[in-house]
Amino acid sequence: MSAVPDRGGQEPGAGDQERQRGAVPSAGTPDPLPRVALIREVGPRDGFQNEPETLPTERKIELIDALVRTGLQRIEVTSFVRPEVIPQLADAREVLTSIDVPASVSVSVLIPNERGLDNALALRDSLAAAMPAGARRPFDEVNVFLSASETHNRKNVNRSIAESLAGLEAVLARARAAELRCEGVISTSFGCPYEGHVPPARVLEIATRLREAGAEEIAFGDTTGMANPNQVREFFRSARDRLGDDVELTAHFHNTRGQGLANVLAALEAGVASFESSFGELGGCPVPAGATGNIATEDLVSMLHEMGIDTGIDLPALIECARRVQRLLGRPLGSHTLVAGPVEWG
Ligand code: ZN
Repeated sequence: MSAVPDRGGQEPGAGDQERQRGAVPSAGTPDPLPRVALIREVGPRDGFQNEPETLPTERKIELIDALVRTGLQRIEVTSFVRPEVIPQLADAREVLTSIDVPASVSVSVLIPNERGLDNALALRDSLAAAMPAGARRPFDEVNVFLSASETHNRKNVNRSIAESLAGLEAVLARARAAELRCEGVISTSFGCPYEGHVPPARVLEIATRLREAGAEEIAFGDTTGMANPNQVREFFRSARDRLGDDVELTAHFHNTRGQGLANVLAALEAGVASFESSFGELGGCPVPAGATGNIATEDLVSMLHEMGIDTGIDLPALIECARRVQRLLGRPLGSHTLVAGPVEWG
């Protein structure tokens, strides 16, 4: 694939050069960092949902089509939350029917509850009937979410954690039966703006339930940017011990306090190789007011590539996507690499 940067030598044991480029052990641990990281671009859902403006559907489709040509392997494109709740994503059907995504890219949609899944499956089936045999499916993965904090979960979805879990277990079972890959996303995994400390044991208990219900991937969200690197490193080591090796652990950091990339490094040190981020650093958060969104995908990709960790993403092409969305929104976005460009070593 031509979009894959030629970095981070793949052959083990290439001596000092290898060590410099990809396998630098972190202080205090002999474990090398992952050589390859998977990134799910969540800007079209998590980003657009949390920006004040609603982009015209046509522009969203163009942006998604450009993003999936940067070498990204995963993208979350929309949600099946009721349009009254999230008007920014009321065009889910039109977006899913119009985007042009290579078969190699995994498309994910957010599913809030069984009714959302009903709507998603109905759309998938109606499209399948209209498509030629062998055409790519409109989406491959679903993600379901809840908060690890009772107060945040109630404010977000008006349910207790127990009620949310019971509902999502039903969603996961049906999604699996419909041959969809499932991701469970746990918000406020590292702290809650209402409750403060969120016990890791509770987060891992929720993760275990989601895993047992069929989630192959669990993402831990630092929804309001409260996590610090020590906490993240320790948390993901415990998560791996508790959840075992057959579930993918994903880190979803927000840059609310500028610590997003430091937390990425800590997660890498704990063996995490899967991340979620938004191009342009799209996606604010209502709490605290005015907070920034997810870490910027181009900042994440720039750091990983400079560390010799391969992502398969063409950084200049990704920066061009961020530049486009910044032009459309007509205001400066939070991404650093968007301003500075990729590192040039001359
Ligand atoms: Zn987010």
